[in-house]
Amino acid sequence: MNEHPLDIDYDRYRVPPGGGFRLSSIASDDTQGMDDKDAARATLSALRERLSSLQERLYAEDRQALLLVLQAMDTGGKDSTIRSVMKGVNPQGCRIYGFKKPTPQELARDFLWRVHQRVPPKGHIGIFNRSHYEDVLVVRVHGLVPPELIEKRYDHINAFERLLHDHGTRVVKVYLHISKDYQLERLRRRLERPDKWWKFNPQDLEERKRWDDYMRAYELALNRCSTPEAPWYVVPAEKRWFRNLVVARLLVDTLEAMSPQYPPPSFDPADYPPASLR
Ligand code: ATP
Ligand code: MG
Repeated sequence: MNEHPLDIDYDRYRVPPGGGFRLSSIASDDTQGMDDKDAARATLSALRERLSSLQERLYAEDRQALLLVLQAMDTGGKDSTIRSVMKGVNPQGCRIYGFKKPTPQELARDFLWRVHQRVPPKGHIGIFNRSHYEDVLVVRVHGLVPPELIEKRYDHINAFERLLHDHGTRVVKVYLHISKDYQLERLRRRLERPDKWWKFNPQDLEERKRWDDYMRAYELALNRCSTPEAPWYVVPAEKRWFRNLVVARLLVDTLEAMSPQYPPPSFDPADYPPASLR
């Protein structure tokens, strides 16, 4: 495997179905003992090439899709993960969508209505920057809908993701795991740099006060919605080079398992020898 000199074990970050998972069981600054950033850079670049060629096959085959759901607390690095991992992948085959506060039109429907419209079509890689999980995270923390309804949403989500799976969309979910102290450091850095002010929202400080409530809501969602068809991975995200490697590796291995194939030609190549073209 000299194509991937750094061998990442991401299986240890998969939330087992059936419950009992605790976020504290995974160190948010874990690097599996690696510290060679040059090797990491080389590995990431090999993984990106692999990702790019697998995506081309997926697009050409036009029968399956891959959906990456990305969730994190503010400053968790969702944007930068997307930028680093997807660099070099043909944008034509990617759909990236960020879910914001629902509009009145969206709130007038069930919570999955807006989400279903954004799932990647066959042949595409889709990325959700925030997702339907907000409807059991921020919504739970702020009590935006009655608790009985939130309770039912875990089952609704599992059924929805199973539907996607059954129709050829592989769903992989990543929670970028950071600590409360790390978030403080990142927020401070953001405020020290005028070119990062656009990313700062004073509301983020209000959410930070509810950190423990968010962690409880995350643990619940991870435990109730990590299924064999649509597993959750809790990825240590404080060392960004490591985070990128884990996510890239996960996408490459998922696509490899999907094994997209170039479709057979719709014509007999023997009828069209290239030299005969005029
Ligand atoms: P991010 O913080 O993800 O980098 P951003 O700063 O560009 O994104 P924000 O407007 O800060 O954009 O983030 C989106 C906000 O919308 C978050 O506070 C999120 O909790 C909220 N949101 C997303 N989905 C829902 C939902 N279903 N219900 C309520 N709030 C939601
Ligand atoms: Mg924000």
